[in-house]
Amino acid sequence: MALCSFFCSRLPNCFRGRSSVSSLAPKPRFCPSFSRASASAAKADEVPAQVGFLGLGIMGSPMAQNLIKAGCDVTVWNRTKSKCDPLISLGAKYQSSPEEVAASCDVTFAMLADPESAVNVACGEHGAARGMSPGKGYIDVSTVDGATSKLICSQIKATGALFLEAPVSGSKKPAEDGQLIFLTAGDRSLFETVAPLLDIMGKSRFYLGDVGNGAAMKLVVNMIMGSMMASFSEGLLLSEKVGLDPSVLVEVVSQGAISAPMFSTKGPSMVRSSYPTAFPLKHQQKDLRLALGLAESVSQSTPIAAAANELYKVAKSHGLSDQDFSAVMEALKVKLQNQLKD
Ligand code: NAP
Repeated sequence: MALCSFFCSRLPNCFRGRSSVSSLAPKPRFCPSFSRASASAAKADEVPAQVGFLGLGIMGSPMAQNLIKAGCDVTVWNRTKSKCDPLISLGAKYQSSPEEVAASCDVTFAMLADPESAVNVACGEHGAARGMSPGKGYIDVSTVDGATSKLICSQIKATGALFLEAPVSGSKKPAEDGQLIFLTAGDRSLFETVAPLLDIMGKSRFYLGDVGNGAAMKLVVNMIMGSMMASFSEGLLLSEKVGLDPSVLVEVVSQGAISAPMFSTKGPSMVRSSYPTAFPLKHQQKDLRLALGLAESVSQSTPIAAAANELYKVAKSHGLSDQDFSAVMEALKVKLQNQLKD
């Protein structure tokens, strides 16, 4: 059965009067084989009628919430059921397993912590694959490695359903604001089918070809980010050690060529040794670990990312896993204190 047989003609609220997102879609940066997202690829009146959402953590909850607020008919599941309750009160339906969500929906999104949970939820007992069949689609928006994504893809496609990997760039606030960047790869027709849904949750979407390319792009982005944060932390501590005001450093950085929203957003709280969690440190370390594996697979040396990874591992060993990844600065502070003792 074709996906379009499930489409509802009723448009979610957000499409009424919404302008094309094509102006927001970024231009292709380097490789001509990377396609640019195109709003015209998706017909606005062909929207999957029933949308499933598995995994309601920091990212999944606001993403699902935006779909509900846009008028989509959303069915949710989360390992810890209580996280479903706020969404149920907004109008979401609930099913008690990923299998039941997938069986009752046309397309199902999954936003899970790591490769293990992504595989469990997709392929485990009562996993989503068991509820999949021809005409349905599974979109994994978790950050995983390419091998994991290909494994999930094979299990989903064995049911006759379509698969798209679509990890996101952007954190808690962009998820809340519907400003994520989707890095997709896999079944192009599913990409086009769910484009209106991606446009509710995000500001742009890349289609990158074969499964594995979306995962790789995401890991490269987060490898850079992890190293940037470690380096920024070193700078803040060094500025303080030589008698400068680290708050002034944050301001100087924000005005120069190395300015980045990440530094401006997180810098002031880092100066106060406060790390409100937007991107858990354990996920940043996971992404560095997976990025190093990606580099290893092509024999590329990544010494800076490797050093940063060690620092995040130290931070985890100090119990900072669930703090924001900017808490990596605490691992550096411990190192400095140890130096003083020597
Ligand atoms: P999170 O708040 O830790 O949420 C993780 C989700 O995975 C929760 O729903 C959790 O369920 C579920 N989960 C964990 N282990 C599971 C298992 N064994 N079986 C079933 N479900 C399991 O993480 P997040 O920040 O939303 O991130 C989710 C994904 O997006 C990660 O891959 C992360 O790297 C990526 N990402 C995060 C950000 C960010 O800024 N936060 C940005 C981009 C991408 P419970 O509620 O039961 O624990």
